[in-house]
Amino acid sequence: MNAAELAVVVCCECGQVAFPPPVLCPACGARNWASEPAGPGIAEQLTELRRVAGAGLEQPVRLAAVRLRRGPALVARAAPGVEAGGTVRVGVDPDDGALVAEVAP
Ligand SMILES: [Zn+2]
Repeated sequence: MNAAELAVVVCCECGQVAFPPPVLCPACGARNWASEPAGPGIAEQLTELRRVAGAGLEQPVRLAAVRLRRGPALVARAAPGVEAGGTVRVGVDPDDGALVAEVAP
């Protein structure tokens, strides 16, 4: 996959790391954010989606709950080979904008 690495934002005042970017820093109330690479995380749990409301799925989609080492948690599509407890890198699929967790090299 040629996914660009996910970016998180870091508060310029106190260093709080957030994803998705909030308007105000939840720690200090500042509004100034710097964008930085998300870095690796752990795939804490995986689940398989077989259907969604209002539409069928041609094939099941595996989802991973990922906790980034820098703090934020997110849900991403799990690439083949991702297992619970494994280290992953999170990217953004250029085709559909979805977050994708891949096995970290
Ligand atoms: Zn802050």
